[in-house]
Amino acid sequence: MTVIDVRDLRKTYGSTVAADSVSLQVEAGEVVGILGPNGSGKTTTVECIAGLRRPDSGSVRVAGLDPAAERDQITRMVGVQLQQAGLQGKLTVREALDLYASFYDDPADGPALAESLGIGPKLDARYDNLSGGQKQRLAIALALIGRPRIALLDELTTGLDPRARRTVWGVIEQARDAGTTVVLVTHFMEEAQHLCDRLVLIADGRVVAEGSPRELIGSAGAPTTMTFTPSAPVRLDDLAQLPHV
Ligand code: ADP
Repeated sequence: MTVIDVRDLRKTYGSTVAADSVSLQVEAGEVVGILGPNGSGKTTTVECIAGLRRPDSGSVRVAGLDPAAERDQITRMVGVQLQQAGLQGKLTVREALDLYASFYDDPADGPALAESLGIGPKLDARYDNLSGGQKQRLAIALALIGRPRIALLDELTTGLDPRARRTVWGVIEQARDAGTTVVLVTHFMEEAQHLCDRLVLIADGRVVAEGSPRELIGSAGAPTTMTFTPSAPVRLDDLAQLPHV
């Protein structure tokens, strides 16, 4: 079943064309990654799906609804992690989780979610006193606290260290296993490969390629490059004799 259906989405800001003509579909239960260079229209597309922006033309349907027109129903089923969460500085992590949980009918357990994201010890810390990575993980917790049918996660793990990134991956996998459809924007190929069933590449406001991570990497035809620092001098000629090098 198609839960997100975007057709010929166009959105401009003055003379800037943010999304030129974006079309993409997401099936229920999928984890779809949106990749592309900065300024290519990824956030604009996600914001239109979330109902936070109204497209100039084209259509967006989320579970059959128009997110810009039917905000009430959309916010009940969609969890959103935006690049700048902008919570009030004096709010504690616990208060933020309680507040967001109160918006939903059947929310997850906030402290348990914080614990699984590695910010359990920060429940009583104020938002202003969190590190960038802790704020990022709180934003992910707030996106998932309502057990949303659909999670939209913009720049999921940008700014997180490798261990925190893997912790987040585990939480996203749990959400997927519980039935959440996930759309995430990422710049990390490893993350896309690990988490995503399907990738959508956006450039200059258009979808330029899509497919499974394996299909896309295969079609790029790029050779695999490994970089390493040897602990002792090596002769390059010896390496070149190895199969596949
Ligand atoms: P991405 O997420 O791929 O980096 P965005 O959707 O954020 O791309 O932005 C696409 C283009 O639209 C960029 O040129 C950006 O500067 C511009 N843009 C985004 N939001 C606004 C806005 N609120 N006002 C004006 N221009 C914007």
